[in-house]
Amino acid sequence: MLYTMKALLKVAKANKFAVPAFNICSFDMLKAIMEEVEAQRAPVILEIHPDEIDYLGDPFVATVKEYALRSNVPVVIHMDHGGTIADVMRAIRNGYTSVMIDASLADYEDNVALTSQVVELAHQVGVSVEAELGTIGNNGGSYEGGSDTIIYTDPDQAVDFVNRTGIDTLAIAIGTAHGLYPKDVKPELNLPLLKELNKRIDIPFVLHGGSGNPDAEVSEAVKYGVGKVNLSSDLKSVFFNEIRRVLNENPDMYEPNQVYPTPNEKVKEVVRHKLHILNTIGKADLY
Ligand SMILES: [Zn+2]
Repeated sequence: MLYTMKALLKVAKANKFAVPAFNICSFDMLKAIMEEVEAQRAPVILEIHPDEIDYLGDPFVATVKEYALRSNVPVVIHMDHGGTIADVMRAIRNGYTSVMIDASLADYEDNVALTSQVVELAHQVGVSVEAELGTIGNNGGSYEGGSDTIIYTDPDQAVDFVNRTGIDTLAIAIGTAHGLYPKDVKPELNLPLLKELNKRIDIPFVLHGGSGNPDAEVSEAVKYGVGKVNLSSDLKSVFFNEIRRVLNENPDMYEPNQVYPTPNEKVKEVVRHKLHILNTIGKADLY
């Protein structure tokens, strides 16, 4: 079943669970994620970054859409970190049901203006819009970027932003960073700030850079309005590490059905764990 983000997260917020948004960068990752969410009866957000689609090509989205339509769990196809109107139009043409426009590094008024323009375009064709306020940190290694220091989302500005733009979901900066955290960095979420935002804003929040934050903190955040958690590095790192291991240990191996099964299993393990943390298991039955 194919859903818009708005419809998907309305149910999530009302029932205090979040839906993981997994970046898919290959067919095998798509297959592993879908097999696991179907086994766990969990809704899912399949997320593709503009750099990922530049690599995969537009026809890949047709495959993702076909997968979603044949599935018995709710699926949203979402563009992660769109930067321009061209990114948004490409995503809409390709059949995404949700887009993110990220102008968080621009001046506030410019962010409001570009985001409003995207909402105007996307809502005409029933596509949901996510935007970002404040800046998410960057641990390096991820093309999603972010700033070197995290600038927390300001609650007054967030209320103004949501009212003026008409967005469906808001990406907030409460102490997460893109990429994998260096070993000497202890990530910590600013839960008091999240509670304040949740008191004043009705639409669901999105947590970017959700890889590597302590599980208990992420589970706690789900109770205070976080409906979507972006996960990319945690999946890609286990997938490619396992491919590396399999090929190094089996230099003569070349058949995909021999190379990919254990990397896919590693992805499934992470998917299962994240669904558990976000309280998403079995929630497909609420749709
Ligand atoms: Zn992000």
